[in-house]
Amino acid sequence: MPVGICKLCLQNRVLEDSHLLPAALYRMSRWEGSANPNPMLISSRGRVQTSKQIKDYVLCHDCEQRFSRNGERYTMLQVNRKEGFKLLQTLRTSTNMRSAGGFTFYYETSALGVDRQKLAYFAMSVFWRAAVHLWHRPEQKEPMMRLGVYEEPIRKYLMEEAPFPIGNGDPSFCLYRLPRSEVFYQPSQGNMEMPYTWTFQTRGLNFYLSGMEGMPPHLAGACLINGTKEIIAARSCEEKILDATMKIMIEASKRGNHDPRDTKKL
Ligand SMILES: [Zn+2]
Repeated sequence: MPVGICKLCLQNRVLEDSHLLPAALYRMSRWEGSANPNPMLISSRGRVQTSKQIKDYVLCHDCEQRFSRNGERYTMLQVNRKEGFKLLQTLRTSTNMRSAGGFTFYYETSALGVDRQKLAYFAMSVFWRAAVHLWHRPEQKEPMMRLGVYEEPIRKYLMEEAPFPIGNGDPSFCLYRLPRSEVFYQPSQGNMEMPYTWTFQTRGLNFYLSGMEGMPPHLAGACLINGTKEIIAARSCEEKILDATMKIMIEASKRGNHDPRDTKKL
């Protein structure tokens, strides 16, 4: 394994083969028993089943352990797994909720035993990784996203040397659970609904990071770190995913990358 500067602790260390998104997600997303058990990768070029994982030599062993201990291990137990969707099951025990606009808003979720700080730490560790390293070299020339003036305060927060930078206009989070979703994808910029956000998904949990423009007011109470109402917003995403997948497939078929057998699975 190569020796170099670990991007989190900034020390010269032996570097591990670090993942952008947890290796556990790839393991959970295999189709065991089928001819090709590899996870499905959906991109603008179409659908492909591949064993390729997004990883590189970025972090030392201690920092990998720090990420695991402070957020990843907990979050991977909460996602939609073959044996169940723990976070969703926990939320459904609550009576402190309200439905509006296709969402169910669960309130005071810490009281249900949800560890919001660990979810936030995990989410921030993924956004930070996307911002500080080129994971898709040599094609990629710029980081997937930028944290700007927050990059160093967030590194210190992830190093457990400083609290999360909170103030007016600072980054904030919210979290959706999306029942029956089994996909995961890397950070990407939000859609027209939430144009100033970044988002990624891990088998049912969708994390959002808002920049200077802040969270839309109706979602402000959902911030994982400073949302006083401790909301987790939930909605079914089946239609949305089908819709997005169809758009990608149509786009891919125009470019000639489409495998017609894929449509039968939809
Ligand atoms: Zn380190």
